[in-house]
This record gives sequence, structure tokens and C-alpha cells, in this order.
Amino acid sequence: MAMRCLLSRLNCKEYKNWIKAGYCLSLLKSSLQTFIESEMKSFHQRLCREIPQGLPRTRCQCKARGKQFNPACPVCVEWKKIILKHHTNKNGEIHWGNCKPSLWPTNYWEVAKVYMPRGHADTAGPQLCDAAALLNLINACDRFREFNQSKVREVIKCRNELMHSSDMNVSSNWLKDFGQRLQNLIFEFRHVPGIHDEGKRIQEVLKSDWLVEDFGYEVDGLVMESTQTHEEIPMLIMYETEQQLIQQLLKEIYLQIEEQVEEQESLSEKDFDSVQKVKAFLSEHVDLQSNLQATLEKLDILQRTHVSLEGEGCP
Ligand SMILES: [Zn+2]
Repeated sequence: MAMRCLLSRLNCKEYKNWIKAGYCLSLLKSSLQTFIESEMKSFHQRLCREIPQGLPRTRCQCKARGKQFNPACPVCVEWKKIILKHHTNKNGEIHWGNCKPSLWPTNYWEVAKVYMPRGHADTAGPQLCDAAALLNLINACDRFREFNQSKVREVIKCRNELMHSSDMNVSSNWLKDFGQRLQNLIFEFRHVPGIHDEGKRIQEVLKSDWLVEDFGYEVDGLVMESTQTHEEIPMLIMYETEQQLIQQLLKEIYLQIEEQVEEQESLSEKDFDSVQKVKAFLSEHVDLQSNLQATLEKLDILQRTHVSLEGEGCP
């Protein structure tokens, strides 16, 4: 029963499109990680040189929270100024809470995280980032201003559509358009080592059928028979990508609700629907639930906090 359920799920065209798009983003991410690491290390060195010398030496105990950061020591005052100077959207939302300010002078990644969206406080380096984090960093930090940012923003927009599709379905036309935007981005970053090859793999993925028959892995107790899809994409890759994507989708929903709790805003009908849809989907697919249980429980606790806050009369 679980096996039939799994096969029918992975052979639904629009659902498979959704997974394919996620897989393409993960291929893009792998080719950007080393590049981002080296660029941000150089950027950090440059910023260190821009910090005025001879600042009074006091022990930094500054803490950032959410979108707020009021530096309490002279070193952080200068770092905040300089980080903002290189931000391409100084008046937009800046998630200072992603980083530990006391580490700015010594840790390049704590600086890089200021240019990322909410929810990256625990991301220890580019190798642990998803494509969205890296693309937003490229878009927000003027280190990358030589690149055509509209190409970057187009892919960010597609990625957000993908993650806000609580039905977990995208049409073939959407996928085709997404593929074109990815190729435009890859062309823009064509000097990055390895990106050309990943671009080819992305094209292959997008034009393949990924027709699933049986598979020969044991996945959470499900023993399967053959090992490949017709297009030679190992079944395990599809299954892993599927889990990662749903995990990301739940994380996005979580961050959105967490922000509303902090800002004491009401949960919109759309947010509530998204949670219900994903939960309903997971309740129909038991094989996915075991790996996502911890995330679902976290989301449940947060939702209950939100409901109780609303009950206490928050606006
Ligand atoms: Zn400080």
C-alpha cells in the first residue's frame, strides 16, 4: 500500500515538476557555494581594512535580535555602519538577528549572514546554505554588483513561488520558464568554476521524464525492487529531494508564523490554509512523516503559541 502510494505520488506530473525544480536549485547551489565562500572571505578582509584603527578596546556584549540591532560598543557601531554601506537595500528588512556581532571582526560568515533572509542564525557556512540564502546574499551585498541582479531576482522569485506552493505542484509551463531563468543566471555567472557543467545537468533534468517504476532501496522500511527511473535519475535522489523540499517548505511556514508571533500579528487565512494543506498531504503519505515528525511538532507548538497569544487579545 505504502509502495503504491509512493509510486503514484512520484508519478504525478505537477508534483514531479515541483521536485525537479527543487533538485535544479540544489544543483545550482552546489556550484555557487565555493564561489560565495571565497568572495565573502575577500569581502570580509576588505571590510576589516575599512574599520577605523585605534577604537577603544571594550569587551563586546552586543546582541542582535530579529531586525533590530543597537550596537553598544564602538567596534560594533563601526561594523554596523560599514555592513549597511555595502547593503543594496539599506531601507529594506535587514535580519541582524542572523549573526553574532562580537564575531564580525574575526569571522567572515557572521558578516555574510547579515545579507541573508531571516532564519540563518545557525547556518555555519555556505556549504550548509540553500540556494535561496546564497541568491539573496548575492542580491543584497554590493560585492556582487558587477552581475546583472535582475537575473538573480528572477530566480529568487521563482524559488519563492515554488516554496509558497502549498499544493506542491507546478505546471510544465512554469517549469519551462523557470529553466530559462536558471540558464540566464548561469550565463551571468559563467566564469564560476563548475557552473557550466551544473547548467548542463539542469537542462538534462528538465527535459527528462523521470518516469518512476520500482526502486531497489530500503527507505524507512519500504523495500523496493529496481533501482532507477527511466531517465536514470536514482530514485533515492528523488526521494531525498522530496524530503528536503518539504522540510524547506515547513521551515518557510515556520519562519513566517514565528515572525507574526514576534510582531504580534494575526495569522492570515492563507497562512492557516498552507499549514493545513501540507499537514493533510503528509497525513496521506505516511512514508514522509517519520523524517518530518520533529519539524511538524515544532510547527504545532508554534501554532499553539500563536493561537494562545491571539486569545490573550493581541491585535
Ligand atoms: Zn559590540
